[in-house]
Amino acid sequence: MLAAAAERSQATEFFSPLPTGYRKGRHKYVVVFGTVMSGLGKGIFSSSVAKLLKDKGLVVAPMKLEGYLNIDAGTLNPYRHGEVFVLDDGTECDMDLGTYERLLDQDLSHANFTTSGQIFSSILERERQGEYLGRDVQMIPHVTGEVKRRLRQLALTGDGKSPADVVFVEVGGTVGDYENGFYIEALRELAFEEGPGSTCFVALTYVIKPETLGEQKSKPAQLGIKRLMEAGIQPHIIACRAAEEVSATVREKVAMFSNVPMKRVFSMHDRPSIYTIPDEMREDGLDREILSLLGLHERVDAAHEDRARDRWSSFVRKLTQPKPSGVTVGVTGKYAQLRDAYASIDKAVEHCSAHLECDVHLKWIETTEITDTNVGAKIGELDGVIVPGGFGSRGVEGKISCVRHCREQGLPYLGICLGFQVAVIEYARHVVGLSVANSTEFEQACPESVISELPEQKKIEGLGGSMRLGAQDVVISPSTLASFLYANGGHSISAGAAGIAGHVRERFRHRYEVEPGYVDRLESAGLVFSGRHPSQPIMQVLELPQHPYFIAVQYHPELTSRPLRPQPLFMGLIAAAMRHKVGAGVAGMGPLAKWLRPMSVARSGVVRPQPA
Ligand code: GLN
Repeated sequence: MLAAAAERSQATEFFSPLPTGYRKGRHKYVVVFGTVMSGLGKGIFSSSVAKLLKDKGLVVAPMKLEGYLNIDAGTLNPYRHGEVFVLDDGTECDMDLGTYERLLDQDLSHANFTTSGQIFSSILERERQGEYLGRDVQMIPHVTGEVKRRLRQLALTGDGKSPADVVFVEVGGTVGDYENGFYIEALRELAFEEGPGSTCFVALTYVIKPETLGEQKSKPAQLGIKRLMEAGIQPHIIACRAAEEVSATVREKVAMFSNVPMKRVFSMHDRPSIYTIPDEMREDGLDREILSLLGLHERVDAAHEDRARDRWSSFVRKLTQPKPSGVTVGVTGKYAQLRDAYASIDKAVEHCSAHLECDVHLKWIETTEITDTNVGAKIGELDGVIVPGGFGSRGVEGKISCVRHCREQGLPYLGICLGFQVAVIEYARHVVGLSVANSTEFEQACPESVISELPEQKKIEGLGGSMRLGAQDVVISPSTLASFLYANGGHSISAGAAGIAGHVRERFRHRYEVEPGYVDRLESAGLVFSGRHPSQPIMQVLELPQHPYFIAVQYHPELTSRPLRPQPLFMGLIAAAMRHKVGAGVAGMGPLAKWLRPMSVARSGVVRPQPA
């Protein structure tokens, strides 16, 4: 009996479960820590390196380790934490996951995002189920063991198709924070267990330049790195963030005090665009160093890399070269002061700007003061308007005034989620004649709730939480603006082929929907619902056939825009904004013309959508 108990307690002493099929040495790890301070762009750094390796034909899988106790990012305030990003599988996560998806052009899932809350809750659940066999459950080995288990599991899952050659781990927060200490310990253990040449530790640090001195100082960077070394981690690579290029003298000092050879201490100074970073890293030899440290040279596919680099360089060239034309698009948002809250919209527009060779200036518009009377003065000069997603009633009436102005004045409009709902409210009030139309989100006892929460649909959908989250199919009606745009964007939708409806897949995050009882009245008054749920009466895209460009969607198209695959609804908006600005002359403007649906087509009869 005693022997059995002893055996059991020994068996659990070094809790490092290897998932079935896991082979040590097959998968490598690159771990990025932030020192000195947060907000240095660990995600951008990590995703840029991951991109360089992916371009070489390696399978990469990123993991963001968050220190906070929330289970996901769903309830985080965008003011504090930036945009809540939504993945295909409905995971609500940190906006860094968006950076990974965009740079890698790879869909991520819950497997790529871990919070302390998830770790602790799974351990406590296991403890309640008696899985620890009378053992006291401890930070080490159990909590660190769970971190390692998730990383190794991700290595096996890889990109969803093949196991990962390299897992990129980004540790949230700063080294020395109380809350990420156990992640650091877990990664130290992982490197030890996986053996030499398996893990590459990167310290991202910050080199200050105090104004009074006018020169770069390395001391905070040294102290930050030392903190990491105190935790038992010797970095292999140091990346020095700074406003300007970090001088060789400073890099030498950092190298000397951290035992890292000079050739592995890189300057990662501010750049005008994050998209040039991979190429700059490559020029500095950062990817080569990582390949050598991890013994990955023979897994490189040079031809794959050449092709990937060509495509990427042409995008970066188009993005950075001076553009022949430009437009100003207004974005009405409650978080107008904070761009991070709309990071994906910013990026989606940037992608279009490169492909259409057209500068897009985004103007952030606070709508709390906007009314039907002053709206012309506030947004009349713009070339297009986006009403983005949002929650709560603040500024909603101002948004409705903006929609009305766009609709009546022929100003290009793209409504996203809340922007779709306010477009429905506006149409119901001013065209259908339901002057008190509203959403139950803003007015619980609203007598004409054209937008409302629909619990019976949620039951049908089988959703756990109260929001409809993640990727869903949308049936796009033929001969509509939506079908034209998606077909242009390479989606398998035949524009104009009457009778053939195509599917697109888009990501949702909402609680309220168009009340089905109003759909007929809205459509009889001229509004066209050109995208619907495949089997439920859930409206997902609306448009106005007589308008130069008026389209709104219940989903978030900004989340799926990628540098090399820009999102069609944004492409259409920018093209329409240009046409609004320069008139008919836009037809001769290169790539823009392809996105301009001839108005004659728009005015032709619209086929009523037939849900499949
Ligand atoms: N507040 C609206 C809803 O819950 C819109 C959500 C959004 O814009 N993401 O449906």
